[in-house]
Amino acid sequence: MRLARFLTLTLAVLFAASGARGEELQVLLGGRYHEPVTAYKAADRLFLNAKQAGELYGAQAYWYPVSGRVQLSFRGRSLQLLAGSAEASLDGRPVVLESPVMLRAAQAYAPLSFFLGREFGEFSGLETQFDARTRLLTVERRSSVGSVRWYSYQDYTRLVLELKKPLGHIASGRGTGGVEVSLPFGVLDAPEDGTVEDQFVRGFFLRQDSKAAVWSVRFAKPGLKWRLRELSEPRRLALEVASVDPKDVAGDGGAEPSPPPAVSVSTAPAPETSALPASRRIVIDAGHGGKDGGATGRRGTSEKDINLSAAKDLARLLEQEKVFDVVLTRADDTFVPLDERSRLSNEAKADLFISLHCNAHRDSKENGYEVYFMSEKASDPEAERLAQFENASLELEGKSAADAEAELILHVMGKTESINAAAELAALVDRSLRRRVDLAPRGVKQAGFYVLRGTDAPALLVEMAFLSNRRDEAKLQSRRYRSRLVDGIYAGLVDYAKRQGWLQKGAPHAAR
Ligand SMILES: [Zn+2]
Repeated sequence: MRLARFLTLTLAVLFAASGARGEELQVLLGGRYHEPVTAYKAADRLFLNAKQAGELYGAQAYWYPVSGRVQLSFRGRSLQLLAGSAEASLDGRPVVLESPVMLRAAQAYAPLSFFLGREFGEFSGLETQFDARTRLLTVERRSSVGSVRWYSYQDYTRLVLELKKPLGHIASGRGTGGVEVSLPFGVLDAPEDGTVEDQFVRGFFLRQDSKAAVWSVRFAKPGLKWRLRELSEPRRLALEVASVDPKDVAGDGGAEPSPPPAVSVSTAPAPETSALPASRRIVIDAGHGGKDGGATGRRGTSEKDINLSAAKDLARLLEQEKVFDVVLTRADDTFVPLDERSRLSNEAKADLFISLHCNAHRDSKENGYEVYFMSEKASDPEAERLAQFENASLELEGKSAADAEAELILHVMGKTESINAAAELAALVDRSLRRRVDLAPRGVKQAGFYVLRGTDAPALLVEMAFLSNRRDEAKLQSRRYRSRLVDGIYAGLVDYAKRQGWLQKGAPHAAR
């Protein structure tokens, strides 16, 4: 014991002297915190304890100090690393490392870049990311199948399954009650269970089988016709369900959800220019930025970063639909004053304004998401507190809340119509989030957010989750969770667009 302690101390002194320092990296594995992994920095590069890393990826890990070898076994597959060597062996195939595996404190350390790389990702089936600022290592399943979106039209329903890489598929009718699509070797982001409940489709689920991802769609009634197609850019499977052959009502257009061609007026003169609906401009506002970091997580996550990445993801989804024209108030880490954000939206004549934020509370138990729309009075004292927090950016602009108040009075007058529209949009976004994320729904609320009040368009502010809550913070840091949140907001927007008739000429089904 005494000797061991002496050795440890000696080693510690030696390493301090040589400038190498050990560090515990926090690990988020599939959205949950895992035991930390020890890392060393040398020559400006980070190295991970190879045995610990192997265990993190679910391998049986063996470390042979005498031969300097680390052997990792992943259900019949193997990875071997050798101290002092810059070559790893993946199932016997050599892979070159950025630097040789090094020895520290009698353990082998492999370059972090190896674990982040494509080869190891394909080998382990997991995707690793490292945030140098929060010192967090995120490990998630490398999925090839994303989530399902759906659109209800007058004559048909289209469901779209996102594919992240080329995958084959086999579709079979389940009697007349539905369709089952099997994607061999497909790996899901997450299982999903969706309720559509329109006139053609009851619902669907996505399930992971051992050798395939399975997408099963239940029809609303017997005797319906369906068509399944693979579309590109972005790669996706589109399933159309209708009373007649979907080809006759849905057309061949790849872009969903473009309006169905008006079959009955095919003999009428072509409408001027095109039948495409006018595009709708949506401004997406990533809260905070630059010197204004917003809330900070217990583990150091910065709100501004989460907001920006969610905003970009939402923009990307919306841009897939030809009818949406997306404007971001910021596309990088810059400080944009609040009134600049509203002005940008007003000058762009936005049809909708969506501001994305993360919440924080001194009570770390508070968790979940909230959807806000503008009002003069806060719906409760907590909403008031939050509005004050989010409005604090004004101080960074050297503006007092009173000045800001005066400037706003004109704007707020005559906004009733857009407030009503925002209330409807908020309810739809809240509902679709409830269906998609397992975060606590805290409901639709109102508060005097400055950025919403200065905006002419119907405006929403979504507090995606609480950075002050450990579990919520982990979810916000997980790309998979963020994409579910973004999907939820997106689907709510699409529901709203359908109600407004933006997505089709015929009367849309009432979204449920
Ligand atoms: Zn914020």
